[in-house]
Amino acid sequence: MPHVIVQNCCNDASCVPECPVDCIHPTPDEPDYATAEMLYIDPDVCIDCGACIDACPVSAITTDYELTTEMAPFESMNAEYYEAVGSAADRDHPFTDPRIGRKRPSSDAETLSVAVVGAGAAGHYVVSELQHRIDVRATIDVYERLPETGGLVRFGVAPDHADTKKVQEQFAKSRTQSGVTTHLGVRIGEDVTHEDLARSHHAVVYAVGSLHGRDLGLPGADLPGVTAAADFVAWYNGHPDFAGLSVALAHERVVVLGNGNVALDVARVLTADPETFAGTDMTEEALAALRDSQVREVVILARRGPEHAAFTAPELVGLARTVPVVVEPGDLEDAGDEPADAQARYYRAQKLSLLRALPAADSGPDGRRVVLRFGTAPTAITAADGALIVAVDDHGAPSELECGLVLPSIGLRGTSVPGVPYDEATGTIPNADGRVLGPDGAALAGVYVAGWCKRGPTGVIGTNRFDARGTVDALIADFHAGVLSAPEAR
Ligand SMILES: Cc1cc2nc3c(=O)[nH]c(=O)nc-3n(C[C@H](O)[C@H](O)[C@H](O)COP(=O)(O)OP(=O)(O)OC[C@H]3O[C@@H](n4cnc5c(N)ncnc54)[C@H](O)[C@@H]3O)c2cc1C
Ligand code: SF4
Ligand code: SF4
Repeated sequence: MPHVIVQNCCNDASCVPECPVDCIHPTPDEPDYATAEMLYIDPDVCIDCGACIDACPVSAITTDYELTTEMAPFESMNAEYYEAVGSAADRDHPFTDPRIGRKRPSSDAETLSVAVVGAGAAGHYVVSELQHRIDVRATIDVYERLPETGGLVRFGVAPDHADTKKVQEQFAKSRTQSGVTTHLGVRIGEDVTHEDLARSHHAVVYAVGSLHGRDLGLPGADLPGVTAAADFVAWYNGHPDFAGLSVALAHERVVVLGNGNVALDVARVLTADPETFAGTDMTEEALAALRDSQVREVVILARRGPEHAAFTAPELVGLARTVPVVVEPGDLEDAGDEPADAQARYYRAQKLSLLRALPAADSGPDGRRVVLRFGTAPTAITAADGALIVAVDDHGAPSELECGLVLPSIGLRGTSVPGVPYDEATGTIPNADGRVLGPDGAALAGVYVAGWCKRGPTGVIGTNRFDARGTVDALIADFHAGVLSAPEAR
């Protein structure tokens, strides 16, 4: 009975070094890891030892005989991955976590004082990496502007995805170890300046993430009722900055622009049974609004064809088991050129196959449904008679969609911090391998960056683990090279 990885895999690869037969891939040192939607177990190689299960922080591994009907598609997804990209046994990149077998630093190891700004996933992985280095003993101050830790794991991940949110327990464990002090409700750049922080530590690592959506850049984008999907998510998850956001759910249709995982998440929240969210992180205000909601249809628009769909297969499976998802058969006809890369080819074929298996027309018992439209670009938004009209270019022909709410979901901008360089064009903190670059393009000594504000809003929770490792490598190399100034006494 092979083991199977299911939907909530967050790619942190904690399971990989536990596997005695190296049958979990892609590993973080394989090129496919960077674009992997999740990790997969090769059923032909797995020996069912169960070692991976305990290592997974989000309960994403199960045995095939324990798979629920809802999770059943993941059994074939794990197996088909290896059919498409080659058997685990043939891969020549067995991965050993470099932290395994390491001892705590000896008492004469040098002490490094680090400020980590942001207590989301990336901040956590920076702390965890520093704690596992043998060549330094780190004292760490974590600064978080909110009264709660977790960042987007707390305020972004869907409230009903309790298993995924469990990763916060791992975060909390690192922060309660000796040498770590967490300062909640302190906004760096306002309550404490960057200069003060830099003076009192060897190094400052910014892991401030992303919160706000990118500008839509469309006529009508400023109309009431046009709300970034990211703001809507933060509102229903109770982010204090978004309390009281006006969200119009009185019209039967909502239009979402863009088709990444956040788009599918908001479509699922808008069409699921609201009682699914009772007792979760969702606020009472949002729960009440969903209970009163008149929304029956969410239309997700994507400019490009299904072969370029930005959502991942696990997210589509999760949506389709919550609410009927329909797609125009005509949208699936022209699938474009085959990519050369085996993993990219696999994802393309997998998505097309999942989409082709969806019904052409269907709805739930009370008419709820999600419609995926491809090759359809919004051109303008106007207001008329209390509704919004989204003008679209549908495969070259103009048409219109009436709705009550438009949720652009076209990516997030990294958060900026006063006193720290910021690239407006990319929405990130400019850096080379995690070292923050000043206006002259040279690295600023002692200033680093990790997570979404470093590389943009890509990847899942565990992707930040390996991103943080790269940043900590650079920081420790600079420390040993004598580049970092000793902190002034506080
Ligand atoms: C809607 C949504 C759903 C998602 N769902 C999933 C999922 O189901 N599974 C999955 O694996 N991944 C999911 N992700 C991705 C995952 O959440 C991100 O990969 C991850 O949270 C990025 O981590 P980060 O630390 O870079 O940023 P963040 O999580 O945004 O953390 C940044 C932290 O910095 C703090 N901060 C900002 N400015 C300051 C300042 N000046 N001073 C002090 N603190 C500051 C913020 O308050 C925040 O706590 C989702 C993302 C979104 C947007
Ligand atoms: S059950 Fe054992 S052999 Fe199978 S994937 Fe998990 S660790 Fe590897
Ligand atoms: S979440 Fe991490 S430990 Fe769990 S299956 Fe995915 S990669 Fe493995």
